[in-house]
Amino acid sequence: MIVVIGAGISGLSAAWFLHRKGLPVQVLERADRVGGVIASEHLDGYLIEHGPNSTLQKPESEDDALGRLVGDVGLSDSLMAAGTAAKKRFVMRGGQLRALPTSPPAMIATRLFSLAAKLRLLGEPFIGRGKGEETIAQFVTRRLGPEFLDYAIEPFVSGVYAGDPRTLSVRAAVPKIYALERDHGSLIRGAIALGKAAKAAAGPPGRLVSFDDGMEVLPRTIAERLPAGSVRTGCRMVGLEPAEDGWRVAWGTPTESGVIEARHVILAVPAAAAADLITSLSPEAAGELRDIAYAPIVSAGMGYDPKRVGHALDGFGFLVPRREGVRILGGLFSSTLFPGRAPAGRVLITTFIGGAMDGDAVALDDSAVTRCLSDDLARSLGAAGEPAMVHLTRWERAIPQYVLGHLERIARIDGLLEDHPGLHFRANWRDGISVADCVRNGEKLADHIA
Ligand SMILES: Cc1cc2nc3c(=O)[nH]c(=O)nc-3n(C[C@H](O)[C@H](O)[C@H](O)COP(=O)(O)OP(=O)(O)OC[C@H]3O[C@@H](n4cnc5c(N)ncnc54)[C@H](O)[C@@H]3O)c2cc1C
Repeated sequence: MIVVIGAGISGLSAAWFLHRKGLPVQVLERADRVGGVIASEHLDGYLIEHGPNSTLQKPESEDDALGRLVGDVGLSDSLMAAGTAAKKRFVMRGGQLRALPTSPPAMIATRLFSLAAKLRLLGEPFIGRGKGEETIAQFVTRRLGPEFLDYAIEPFVSGVYAGDPRTLSVRAAVPKIYALERDHGSLIRGAIALGKAAKAAAGPPGRLVSFDDGMEVLPRTIAERLPAGSVRTGCRMVGLEPAEDGWRVAWGTPTESGVIEARHVILAVPAAAAADLITSLSPEAAGELRDIAYAPIVSAGMGYDPKRVGHALDGFGFLVPRREGVRILGGLFSSTLFPGRAPAGRVLITTFIGGAMDGDAVALDDSAVTRCLSDDLARSLGAAGEPAMVHLTRWERAIPQYVLGHLERIARIDGLLEDHPGLHFRANWRDGISVADCVRNGEKLADHIA
């Protein structure tokens, strides 16, 4: 038996791929529902995502564990790719939303970057490799200059990690960008080489996907398709101890309890919860886990009458550099991306406030948050008056931060527990945070265990 503790997408993916290999699994989840931070809700005709809104799929590539999972559990018909409008992304500069350039001619024409910043780019291929581990801010300033940090990379880091580029490690948080310098000596040369390789491979490009009934369809369906009884929710108590031939896992819901003998245990829970579970095995490893920082965030679904919004919402969404002095981190044009997200005559914008650079925002009360969001949407999108609908979700510990030294910390944790074979960690605090990363890592772990 293999026990998976935690029924977020990491745990459920690992469980599913193990089950596909014919291995018996038991998933134990503390909450009364599966999905972890993936949570979708119908409200007043809107379909609100409290957590992730979409994820990036690379169809038909070897990497596409998400596609394999979706096909396996019978969700191919519910999978929806965002329309071509999603390719357009906006960044605020000087109070105006400007489209992020996606081609060399657009780069020359854009008013998002100054002429000096564009000329600075021409020298990028001639800049040498960095020494030692760098933050994203150090890396980008060195290679591209400060303006690209402020108006391209910092908002992107806010959008993905709710993070601060001055603390995140370039190697741990954006390994693909780090690899461009390592493998090609230049981001521009590397991007050209990758573009050529992608053309030669002729596979379909990456696309943003969700499901007709929202992201939560995925974890819910995995849990439904696993054999009856193999996902147990409501486990308020879970404890583990080494046994002769593996592990003894004790669990208890408010009405039932039991003990499972397992060859392998997968901890697919946030870092602090993993720390609690392994304290008696290694207080030192538990301490390392507790030191993994998370950024807080408030996610808000906001409905508007499109006639009262002074922007066509013709894209994926927009990001706001901190220099602009606007508090929201940006917004997603949710009802442009996928159909069925807003009732007739309304649009849905999902916006975010907080993150590692504005940790106090989650402590604001609902009316202060709503006022701030409405004011900032008025400034950025010309959204006039009160929104027709507001729904706030507070995440005190939303996204793990892969700061300088993160990879060394993970190696130390693994080293401290190497005398405990059959114990595995599989959650978004290591090896990638996107939903697609979590699925891919779940598949890899299943392969490894099998
Ligand atoms: C607001 C927000 C927006 C995001 N946006 C995107 C996006 O647009 N695209 C994208 O790809 N990714 C996005 N992400 C990231 C992505 O959603 C997460 O990284 C991923 O879903 C995490 O999955 P997980 O299974 O590793 O962790 P979690 O979802 O945190 O699951 C862990 C599970 O463990 C359970 N648990 C905890 N303690 C115990 C215990 N002691 N015993 C049993 N169970 C326990 C929890 O209840 C939970 O169900 C977003 C995340 C957030 C928070």
